[in-house]
This record gives sequence, C-alpha cells and structure tokens, in this order.
Amino acid sequence: MSQPVMLPQGWEARWDSQANTYIYVDQATGRSQWEVPTQPSYPSSHPSTSPIPPEQSSTPAQGASHHRPGRRQYPTAQIQQMYGGATGYDTQPQQPMAPGYPDQSAHQQQQPQFFTPGLGDQQPAYGQQPAYGAGAPQVGQPSAYGQQQPAGYGGQQPVDQISNQFQQMNMGGYRGGADQKQLHQIQTVNLIGMQPDVAGLDAPPPPYLLPPNAAVTASPHIQPDPSYQRCTLTSMPTTQSLLNKSKLPLALVMAPYRSFRESDGDDPVPVIEDSVIARCRRCRAYINPFVTFIEGGNRWKCCMCGLSNEVPQLFDWNQAESKPADRWARKELNHSVVEFIAPTEYMVRPPQPPVYAFVIDVSSQAVQSGMVAVAARTILESLDNIPNADNRTKIAIIAVSTSLHFFSLPAGATEASMLVVSDLTDVFLPKPVDLLVNLTESRPAIESLLGRLSDMFQESHVVGNALGSALQAAHQLIGKIGGKIVTLTASLPTLGEGALKARDDPKLLGTSKESSLLNAASSFYKTFAIECSKQQVAVDMFLFSTSYTDVATLSCLPRYTAGQTYLYPGFNASRSEDAIKFATEFGKVLAMPMGLEAVIRVRASRGIRMSAFHGNFFIRSTDLLALPVVPTDQNYVIELQLEDDIKGSFVVLQTAILHTTCYGERRIRVITQAMPTTDSVAELYASADQVAIATYLANKAVERSMSHSLDDARSTITNKLGEMLAVYKNQVTSAAGASAQLAVPDNLKLLPLLCCGLVKHVGLREGASIPPDLRAYAQCLLTTLPCQSFVPYIHPRFYSLHNMPAEAGNVGDNGVVLPPALNLTSERLERHGLFLIEDGQNIFLWVGHEAVPRLIQDVFDLPSYGELTGGKSTLPVLDNPFNQRVNNIIAKTRELRRGVYRPHLYIVKSDAEPALRSWALSLLIEDRMDHMSSYAQYLTTVKNKVNGS
Ligand SMILES: [Zn+2]
Repeated sequence: MSQPVMLPQGWEARWDSQANTYIYVDQATGRSQWEVPTQPSYPSSHPSTSPIPPEQSSTPAQGASHHRPGRRQYPTAQIQQMYGGATGYDTQPQQPMAPGYPDQSAHQQQQPQFFTPGLGDQQPAYGQQPAYGAGAPQVGQPSAYGQQQPAGYGGQQPVDQISNQFQQMNMGGYRGGADQKQLHQIQTVNLIGMQPDVAGLDAPPPPYLLPPNAAVTASPHIQPDPSYQRCTLTSMPTTQSLLNKSKLPLALVMAPYRSFRESDGDDPVPVIEDSVIARCRRCRAYINPFVTFIEGGNRWKCCMCGLSNEVPQLFDWNQAESKPADRWARKELNHSVVEFIAPTEYMVRPPQPPVYAFVIDVSSQAVQSGMVAVAARTILESLDNIPNADNRTKIAIIAVSTSLHFFSLPAGATEASMLVVSDLTDVFLPKPVDLLVNLTESRPAIESLLGRLSDMFQESHVVGNALGSALQAAHQLIGKIGGKIVTLTASLPTLGEGALKARDDPKLLGTSKESSLLNAASSFYKTFAIECSKQQVAVDMFLFSTSYTDVATLSCLPRYTAGQTYLYPGFNASRSEDAIKFATEFGKVLAMPMGLEAVIRVRASRGIRMSAFHGNFFIRSTDLLALPVVPTDQNYVIELQLEDDIKGSFVVLQTAILHTTCYGERRIRVITQAMPTTDSVAELYASADQVAIATYLANKAVERSMSHSLDDARSTITNKLGEMLAVYKNQVTSAAGASAQLAVPDNLKLLPLLCCGLVKHVGLREGASIPPDLRAYAQCLLTTLPCQSFVPYIHPRFYSLHNMPAEAGNVGDNGVVLPPALNLTSERLERHGLFLIEDGQNIFLWVGHEAVPRLIQDVFDLPSYGELTGGKSTLPVLDNPFNQRVNNIIAKTRELRRGVYRPHLYIVKSDAEPALRSWALSLLIEDRMDHMSSYAQYLTTVKNKVNGS
C-alpha cells in the first residue's frame, strides 16, 4: 500500500485502520474523502491562513462515516479505485480538478455498491448452522457458533472513540501563509486500560510531508514503498541536539533487494537501459526526483551537496529511436526505486557466473535423519530452477563426515567418481579439474550423483563432522570466482578446523552467563567468513539438529558473508511435514536470483552521517557494506547521526546497491527517499514510525544480549520506550507531575505492544528453559527479517475460526479472505472453539476440548475430540466447505509474506501436551505468563518509568 507523498495545503492524511487505507481530511472544514486531494483546501467562509482551527470540528470517525458504512471490509478493487491507485495518479497531472471535485462526487455515488460481509454470499456462516451449536452440551453458550461476535473482534473501537483528544500543539516557528509547512496532526492516545487495536499494525508509516515542489516531477512514485526502505522518523531533526533531546532513534530500516510479488501489489523496478548515469561529481549521488535543473536545464544541482553538475549529453536523447526524448519522462526523475544498467567502469572484473558449492554432512546422524536424501532430491529437482539463464552456472558437491568426499563430474560423463581426502589439517583439492563444473555440461553426472548420494552413505556408521575443513575445501574450490557455499549439516562439527564442543550447559540458562552461549565459541568461523567475503563467497547454513549444533557459532558464517541461517530442530524426514518444509524452503533458496559481488552504500544530504550498521554483511570500509551474494528479502538497519545542523527544508537519503545479476549484467539499484526537516520535538513524535523503531530496537537488543546479558537486552528496549514516552509527556503534552495514564502519540500507539512482544520473544525473553540453539536462531531472524515478516514474528496473528465471518476462508477479490485479527490474549479462547495462531514461522491450530463432534469431523475427519492427536500435522482436505475454508486460511498464511519460510502446522489440543500448549500460549503476548508480565503490567512498568523521570 503506497502512502500519500505530498498533500496540497490544508489537507491531512489519516490512517483508517478499519478500511486499511488513508482518508484525507480538509483541515479547514473537517470534511473527509478517500481520494488523494490534488487541490489546496480553500475554506469558503473565511479566507484565513490559520492552519488548523483550535478545535477540530469533526473527528476522523465522523468524517469517515460520511463515506462508508460501519463495516470492516471492502473489496480491494473498490479501495483501489477510491484511493486512486496508479492509474488515478497518472492521469491527474493532465487533468486539473475543477472546483467542485466532480470526480469525488462520482465516487460518492458509488457508495451503495459497498460490499457488506455476509450478504449476498451463497455460503451461510459456519456459525449459523444450528447443528454445531445444537450438539454442544454446555449451558450458557447457546449460540456458541453464532454471529453475536461483531462487537468483539479485537475490541477495535476506533481510537478516536477512546479517550484521546486533539491537541493544539505549539509547532515551534512555523507560520501560516505562503511558506506554511505541512505538519502532522499530533493526536494523543492514552493506553492504560485500552485494548490495543491490532489491525493498526498493518498501517503504513506517517506520511512524508515534503514541501511543495520538492520534486521536479509530479510522479506519485518519488518515495519508496516502506517494504524497500523506511526511517524511524518521517521528519528529519535539524540538529543532533534536538534528536538527543527527543530520545527518538534515527535509523534507516531497509530491504533494498526485496523480492517482487504481484500478489502484494508490487510494481517491477523500472530499469534505465540507456547507460546514461548522471551522478554528482562531488558526493557521487545519483540523479533523482529531488534535484533541481538550472541554467536553462543544462545543469542540475545536487540535492545532497548542492554542487552544480552538467546534464549528460544523452540525457534527453532516445538512443533506441535516435530522436529527442522527454526528460520529464525519465524513470530516475519519476521513481524512487530504479535500476541502472552499469557500464564496464562499474566492474572490477568481468561478471562472474553464479556458483554453488554444496557442502553436505553425510555422517550417520545426517543420513539417518533423512536430510541427505531430501537435500539431494531437492537439488536434483531444482536443477532447472537454479539461475542459469546463459548456461554459465557452476556447481560443486562435497560430502563430509570424518573425511572429505569430492566428486569428479566431467562434462559428458554419465557417472560421477568419488575422491576421498582424509587429511583434515592441511586441506587440499584431490584434483585440479572437474570438481567445480558447468551445470549444463555436466548435468548427466550431477544428476546421477544426486540420485544416489544418500544411498552411497546409507550404511555408514561414521560419527563425526569435519565441517570446518570441508568449508575450507569449498572455499579453495570457488574462491577465485566467488559464489555461494550452501552448507547442510545435521551434527556438531567435531573434527578438523573449527571443531566445536557441546557447551550448552543447562546450568547457564537463565543466568547472566547465558549470553556467552549466544556468542561464537570459536573465532574460526568469523575469520573464515571474512576471508570468504573478501573473495566474494557467501555462506548459507541449513542446520538440522537433533541435539545441540551451536547455532550461535555457525551463524557467524552467514552473518559476515550476507548469507542466511535456516534451522530445522529435531528434523526427521520420515515425518512428511519435516521433509516438505525443508524441501520447499531449500528449493526457494536455490531458485532465488543471485545478486553477485554487491556493495551497499547510503548517501545523504550534507550533515547526515551513517554511524552504525546492523545486518548480515561485512563492513569493508567506513560505510561500504560488502555482500558477496545479495539475498532477497533480508533486512538491514543503519543508524544515522547529524554531524552538522541541517539547513534546508528537506533532506535526501539514497541507498545504492551495486551488484551483478546472475545473467552477467552489472546493475545499480538506487533507492531515493526525501524527508522534510523540522525543529520541533512534537513534529518528530508525530512523524515517528513504530514498526521501524521496533525493528531498530530488536537489533540493538540482540547486540546487547551478546555484549552484556539478556537482562540488559530487555532493559534496553523498555528503558528506551520509557525515555521516549517521558519526553513525549513532558515536552509535547506538557502534562505536569505523575500521571495515572500513559500518553503516546497516535502513530506510536502500538509501539509498547511491539516492545512487549520483543521482550517476551523467544530470542530475548527471561527463562531457563529455552534451548540455546532456538534462542540463537530466533536472534538471527529478529535481525534479518524484513518488516513484513518481522511484525508477525514478534506480534503473531490470532484468528477465531469456528465463528469466522462468512467471507473468511473464501476467495475474495484479493485472494483468500482472512478472518479479523484478534488481540493476543487467551481470554479470546473458547472451550468449544477452533483458533489459529501464527508468527510466520509456525502455525498453531488450537482446538478447544469441548469442540462439538461435527466440528472435529468436518475439520479433521475424526469422530470426536478424543480421537484427535496433537502435534506437527497436516490437515486433511475434505469435501465440506468449512474444511476447505480452514485449509485455505492455512495455505494463505503460508504464502502471505515475501521470503522462503513455510511454517509448520501444529494441532494443539487445549487440554493435552503441556509443552506444545504452553509454546502456543507463549505467542499470546498480552497475557501474563510464568514470571513475564502481561501487556497491562508492561504498560504499568513503562508508565512508572515515565513518571519517575
Ligand atoms: Zn552532490
């Protein structure tokens, strides 16, 4: 969902979490509309330039109610149509709106077409079928499956109806009149006693309110979609002292190489193919929508350093058709995210082919778990999906146990031959050629080897894993070219270089010494990883533990080489669920496009400096991030500082990612983002992005858990939150003395919930029962998941299925309709109900022990609850609508987000399997659990910090 970029004077964008889109409010009249306004607001009664009346005459809820019925859901097409979408935008510049907004009234006339859930649907609500309710033996729940639910649905009263009040803020220094600045409306929400509105988690960040004419074109695409890049603040403070005073973090959160998904409404990245790359001679910024053209358009002034640069000769020339071109149509002046095709001077060496070296553990443990068989079969089945468009891709396979097994795969041969090296201390390659081979030319030998790899080691009873030595061999093999080492290991490396010991002493868990288990046990892996990075080699780690495998140490390899760690605890391929999950995720990793030899650099307007970097990469020089292979959908966080005062009315940040595509093209993906500046603490608070701040805090906390302790890590989050809200209370709301309330700006009203989710997350939470491998893996995900996946990972989704609305689970305009998300509290669980909780990594299907037999029959094809077995499972596909809807929701959940993860499904019986039950319940973070506080208690803790400061 894109956001409004720049509104005409007098208009304000407000997020409507129920309709899941913005509404636009005319600040003078209080009138609201769905369409993006294109004309300034002209108050008819009085031509006052006063920006906002002292008292808002109309709340957003009232404003919105003119335009929509009070139901939750609209067909997407309708929203897109109303909201403008791409087509609406495109036509606007050519068609200035006449006074009176004929377009708008046209839209309003469409109002009666609004879709009302439950009406006109052939499928009756599940809950309306009396059979389910009638069979229920309980007293007091007569219409247990009935439709009296709507009042509940997460207690999502519009925030406006709660206790907030508009506040007339002193915005410091801004005047009305011609130079009046667009400002965010500060709206304070009191959180104590309020149930959080979880639907708001999907809202985009506050809009970037740029001054008029900040951009040279009127394109609606001049700011990046938040899925590419967002900032913790959508306004830039003008001084570091203001930033310090505000206590707000300033950091970019980005996934610059995020994948393209049509189902998410993604537009493909525009590619500039004419090799005309205009860059500033001084700061090297790429030309973008925020530069200005001077001297009759012959020169452009850099928006970052102010230098005047010559416009390249071919900038206005259509080379393909040899005719003049329209400058204003150039993609780099109309789009925030573009990709340039780079000429040879952007290459250190000719483009290298994609290379995959598979290092596969073939110890007895690995073979017996079935990992080797599934891995070999998945590679075999993925040979056509591995990027190999121009037949240059190379492959090597090394099997490792107590010795190294190389495979000679000559071109044209139909069989592979194995060469064994037992010397683990001074690793050498047994053969100069045919170990790293062209995938296309050696395909028969590769296929033959993969077909029998598992059988070759089936009888092996070898215990031991010389992983470090195998990695060194793989590095020798591919180091000259670069590429990816894909490591699959099911046992702790015990031999040769980098041998590790089981150090997971249970006595350390829950103590201050637990953090030692989150740090690497051996320096070998980090040193080796940096060596790999220098030679453009990335490492992906697939770990299959039946016991401790030291994820904390082994994850160093992906961390410094821009790879990723994948963990499959207790993997056993004889369980089809395990095999399917691994094969699906591994297959997606193999099919991922490879961006090779990449570097990321962020440039910014004068005065802004990158001060710290978080994510999987190696910092090659002060601000140059090296990524031998860029993975898709990985997140990075970059902290910013102000070393000089900012003078202009807006600043520009630009991320450039130089990489070689897997088909040998050097490209530069450029993401440009402009932010207005402000000298007001209130405006900074009103522009804060809660999701970006939570992502930043997760990275800081994980770092802290390693350098200090988990206790410190949790305090880092809660103290920071308390500090921020204290500043807000004291300096923005000007409330004096201790308060019984916790006041937050509306745009940060879910930040305490996200922080509560973070401190209770398995990666950070208190407790002596979390296996170190699970903890370390959770930390890998907390610091690499892009926002779209990160938010549900710390704040899971929770649905009630037995009484879901009629449209839920059926296919709507935008795919399968999901039920409304519930608040994460077990108060929502009903003994006769069926619920789903998911965090993007696991799905729990919770079955109440008083569920009626027909429900059990329809969903699980079993006669009664007693017959149902809990645990990892696959739901049968049955010939009844309810089963199909539940299956649809599970399938939709699995494909909901970008990335490779395929969550496991666990059936959780409400009165059985205490461990599984408490795992599922631990996701309901609003509840109190063990010694961890409930959300309400957490708010009190934060409130006390605010009052105490
Ligand atoms: Zn410059």
